[in-house]
Amino acid sequence: MQTIYSFSELRSVRASMHGSFGLIPTMGALHVGHASLVERARQECNYIGASIFVNPAQFGVGEDFGKYPRTLEHDLALLESLGTDIVFIPSVETIYPPGYQTWVDVANVTAPLEGKCRPEHFRGVTTVVAKLLNAFTPSKAYFGQKDAQQVVVLKRMVRDLNFSVELMVCPTVREVDGLAVSSRNAYLLPAERQAATILHRALCAAKEKYDGGERNAEMLRAAMQSMLKKEPLALAQYVSAADPETLGELDRIEKGVLLSLAVRIGKTRLIDNFLVGDQ
Ligand code: AMP
Repeated sequence: MQTIYSFSELRSVRASMHGSFGLIPTMGALHVGHASLVERARQECNYIGASIFVNPAQFGVGEDFGKYPRTLEHDLALLESLGTDIVFIPSVETIYPPGYQTWVDVANVTAPLEGKCRPEHFRGVTTVVAKLLNAFTPSKAYFGQKDAQQVVVLKRMVRDLNFSVELMVCPTVREVDGLAVSSRNAYLLPAERQAATILHRALCAAKEKYDGGERNAEMLRAAMQSMLKKEPLALAQYVSAADPETLGELDRIEKGVLLSLAVRIGKTRLIDNFLVGDQ
């Protein structure tokens, strides 16, 4: 596995690789969720590359950029063991050199949900992913359904800016009790870790209603809210039953629905989602 720090080195190494290339962008603190993306890429592509970059532009003021877990040695060992060919570890100055002033801004689908709670977030995500796609020129790029809105936003960007990459969406990897695996789970105290299962239980409550034939989206949002109220450590930021493409809140569910929620457990903000029904 080759470790690369600069765009120039990345370009020259990449130019020597012929055949399909799979990219897995990450912020490091790698876990089994990330590993599932790498494993899928390894199966599908001749060469695979990961990036590790904790992107300051996608963290708001007062968010956890400073304390975001950084476990580089572990990350490199994991990527190597999974057969990664190259790993790109740029510094903040490499991504945003002095004088930097170019941003990629996707409009409508960034407005609701995460966009409402974290106004600058997606502009940071789309900008860095656009830079990575330009530099890696991958045939496929792998993302997790865990960040459902991110996938919708990136698909829109890829279409709108004519990137010739196929976005591959991989299922959310969960702990045995249903909690979606996340680097931020490391912040949870033991009692909070127990309480955090409420996100998955709320989604299951709504899905159960859908599976029972309920097509009134408000009833699904209410099912999530009432489950969340049972957990005193949980503070809901939003619950949503939205159109999977536009992300607009639904009244009546005709085809599929994206059930999603953001919840504070103590100081930690967690998100999760289920994509339900025909897409
Ligand atoms: P991050 O390092 O948090 O930016 O995540 C890098 C990629 O891994 C993103 O595409 C995430 O959606 C994906 N990811 C994170 N957690 C999971 C998970 N539990 N299951 C599947 N994919 C995940």
